[in-house]
Amino acid sequence: MAKKQIIIVGGGFGGLKVAQTLEKLAGVRDDIEVTLVSRDNFLLFTPFLTETLGGMLDEGDVVSPLRAFLKKTRFVMGEVTTIDIKAKTVTYKRPLNDEMETLQADHLILSLGSTSSFFGQTEIEKLAFTLKSLDDASLLRNHLMAALEQANEEADTTARQALLTVAVVGAGYTGVEAAGAMRDLMKHASRAYPNIRPDEIRVILIDMAEKILPSIDPALANYALRQLQKRGIEIRLGQKIECASECAITLSKGEVIPTRSLLWSAGVMPSPLTKTLECAKDKRGAILVEPTMAIKDLPGVWAMGDCASIPNLLEEGRPYTGTAQNAEREAKRLARNVLAILRGQEPKPFLFRSLGEFIVLGDHVAVAQIKWFKFSGFLAWFLWRTVYLVKIPHWGRKARVVTGWTMDLLFGRASVEAETPRVLRSHFMERRGEG
Ligand SMILES: Cc1cc2nc3c(=O)[nH]c(=O)nc-3n(C[C@H](O)[C@H](O)[C@H](O)COP(=O)(O)OP(=O)(O)OC[C@H]3O[C@@H](n4cnc5c(N)ncnc54)[C@H](O)[C@@H]3O)c2cc1C
Repeated sequence: MAKKQIIIVGGGFGGLKVAQTLEKLAGVRDDIEVTLVSRDNFLLFTPFLTETLGGMLDEGDVVSPLRAFLKKTRFVMGEVTTIDIKAKTVTYKRPLNDEMETLQADHLILSLGSTSSFFGQTEIEKLAFTLKSLDDASLLRNHLMAALEQANEEADTTARQALLTVAVVGAGYTGVEAAGAMRDLMKHASRAYPNIRPDEIRVILIDMAEKILPSIDPALANYALRQLQKRGIEIRLGQKIECASECAITLSKGEVIPTRSLLWSAGVMPSPLTKTLECAKDKRGAILVEPTMAIKDLPGVWAMGDCASIPNLLEEGRPYTGTAQNAEREAKRLARNVLAILRGQEPKPFLFRSLGEFIVLGDHVAVAQIKWFKFSGFLAWFLWRTVYLVKIPHWGRKARVVTGWTMDLLFGRASVEAETPRVLRSHFMERRGEG
């Protein structure tokens, strides 16, 4: 009898956990074959991405090879270009050439993640950095180091200001953490530059909303705001970018900020591949699924994580937010549901209440909301490090992270520009379609 083919697309927090749960629950079954297809052969531990941006951890510290997690699952590295959800086929491009391969699934699980959304503002998209991937973090850190190098030799006042000012758009957790990390990196690194005074470095956090960190308790958000301001991070609320050029941005209230470093963290949208799928989606483009994570009227097709809109029955059907915490829990339920269908049983809805969240503000300060408990300051930062150190997979990786943190404490941050400015320029030329 032919084996049932379960194909998972996307090797992030969700996709990997589905594969691991299937291995655990169906370990002795030899009538199913599980395949995980993903463009990268590693899991990126996103909660530590701002640590990489801030130079506290190296790129290698925050990724783990997917193959190390998988014992029975077949892993296929490739860029998925086409998904036919009616036929349940997945077509991917092999890593080193343009050859295409197609896989046929009995159960197709989509966990494609998300990407930055610029809401159609193409000029900003061409100029801004984002922080979703490892490449994003390295590129931005290298750019900041190149900006310091250039500022050290720059005589023109406006040009200097633009080089030494970082603007972050979006005061959700990524924007807040990134602003703190970049402020710390630039201040520490600037000590090596004789012509740069630390007080010349500006980090400005901008948001259209009237408050920062809308997802957490208002008292903690206020504490975070005060801490950021105390550490010299300038805040502009109730404002958006009106226009942007390579050397400046103009805000909606008319303020012109000279900057050559613009980080966009004001919006996310599901992976672009979801646009091509013939199924119902919400207004962000996320795949609408049943509470079981099955796509309606498409038996055997499932979606989860950041690319899906899953109604939360514990909160009047409002969709679950896109977090690794949710994606991992969704994955466990989804794996159980697939196995239930294969056994002729009913799938169950996904029900989960968030455990809380941590937001790191820099300089050993954080805020944390864990269930009903709230923490702030050094204690919250210490809890954050402890919890995520436990969560980061593999002992080897934990050891690397602890070593990275210790090196940072003893010898300061990694503040060399590891990529050449030529690589940076070619990145932007590519994004502007000039390459
Ligand atoms: C900077 C940052 C910090 C974060 N911090 C936290 C935190 O502290 N706590 C928390 O809970 N969450 C955090 N998150 C959110 C968390 O990372 C996501 O919610 C989570 O990764 C979603 O899991 P997923 O499986 O849906 O998507 P992802 O983990 O993004 O995985 C999607 C996978 O699909 C692959 N893929 C996409 N398209 C294709 C294609 N065409 N072909 C092949 N492969 C493809 C991608 O390469 C990726 O491996 C953070 C996110 C960021 C960006």
